[in-house]
This record gives sequence, structure tokens and C-alpha cells, in this order.
Amino acid sequence: MHLHFQTDLHTHTIASTHGYSSLTEMAQGAADAGMKLFATTDHGPGSPDSPHLWHFHNYKILPRKICGVWLLKGVEANIMDEFGSIDMNEKELSFCEWVIASYHTSCVTFRRTPELVTQGYQKLCENPLIDVIGHPTTAMFPCDFEAVLKTAKEYGKLIELNEGSLQWKPGAMENAVQCYGLCKKLGVPIVVNSDAHYHTLVGKYPLSEKLLEELDFPNELIYSLDADRIMELAAQKRGVCFEESN
Ligand SMILES: [Zn+2]
Ligand SMILES: [Zn+2]
Repeated sequence: MHLHFQTDLHTHTIASTHGYSSLTEMAQGAADAGMKLFATTDHGPGSPDSPHLWHFHNYKILPRKICGVWLLKGVEANIMDEFGSIDMNEKELSFCEWVIASYHTSCVTFRRTPELVTQGYQKLCENPLIDVIGHPTTAMFPCDFEAVLKTAKEYGKLIELNEGSLQWKPGAMENAVQCYGLCKKLGVPIVVNSDAHYHTLVGKYPLSEKLLEELDFPNELIYSLDADRIMELAAQKRGVCFEESN
């Protein structure tokens, strides 16, 4: 079995200086990987290496399609505390069409116990502006996956399977087996993303694919296999109009 992924909804550009490719190069990378839709999601302002807020404010000038790939103009917002607060308010997020929220050690000061991290994710789910919980399997933020996933399902949040975490973060694979096994059991939909910081990495998910095959994960819960599903979601929720002239 080979999975045909159509989307990559978590990518970074040189706007975050630990990214190494331009937006156009990232789009070309997405096209080369056969993606139909990709999202550019540089870091929210709480991160020490994030772009200025104008990066997001100016999204309106970008075309809807680059290098033949549909574009969602997004952000990876930072979860800042154990209460699920994020580093962008409603007005700032109104410029974004796709919102991932993730925990990063550089942005938080609370003691990262499973109880508090779980609470943070659960409170985050109450925020209607969040689309996806980013890399929840990071070992630096241990949580009760079952509790988090049940709340995510209740509020209609997608759970990310992050290829970059599997590649670069120790402990992520063991957590992933548990987390995505539970997604299957509980019927929680996921998106598979690269979290690419370089254009050749866009849309390539070897470890994620292997994991999903081992788990015999149901295709209908993998939204990345159907770009139309994500585009409909963005159209309904944020009025994103997928037309060439936009
Ligand atoms: Zn991240
Ligand atoms: Zn990221």
C-alpha cells in the first residue's frame, strides 16, 4: 500500500531565520512532491525566531496559487502556558487562513507535567480559531493523549502527525505509536505535515507513512489524502476562495 498525500499544511520559510528557503522555493518543493495544496506557517510572535506581525498582515498580496499549488496563508501559533493561551489575538489571526497551535520549549515557563500540558491542550481546543494541534508527540511536552484526543474530537480539531518530529526529535516515535493508535481507536482525524524548513523536504513523509501502515490507520481519517476536504473546510470556516485570480 502506498499513500498518495495531496497536502502539506505545516512549512516554514526564511521569514523564520532557522528556515532556509523562500516561499516560492517552498511552493516549488510542494509542486515537485506532487502536492495540490500547501500552507505556509511561519512562527507566531511568541517565538524568539518569528517574523514581524506584518508578515501575516501582508498575506493579502500573495496569489492563491504558486507554482501550480494552491496556497493557504497560515501560522504556527505558540501555546504560551498551561491554560492554552496563544501568542496571537483574534484580530491578528484574522489575517491567517490556517492556524496550527504548538508547544515549544522556548515559549513557556510553566512546569511541563503531564497534568498541566494536558490541561493546556484541552483549553486550547476551546479556541474556535485553532485548526490543528501541532506535533503533540514532542517528548518535551508529555500529556495524557487519550484525554487530549477526546477533547480535540469534541471541538473538531485536527491532530497533526509531524514528519519533522519523527525525524529530528528523540522519543517522538514511541509517543507517536501511542498517540496515533489512539486516534485510530477514537476516530480522530489527522493531517500529516512535513514541518519543512527547506524546500526539498516539503510533502515527503517516509516515517509517517511507515507508522500509519504499521498501525493500519484508516484512510478516511487522514485528511491529507484529500486536498478538497481541507479546501472546503477553509472555505466554510474562513471564506477562503480558491480561484486562480485571487
Ligand atoms: Zn513547531
Ligand atoms: Zn513548525
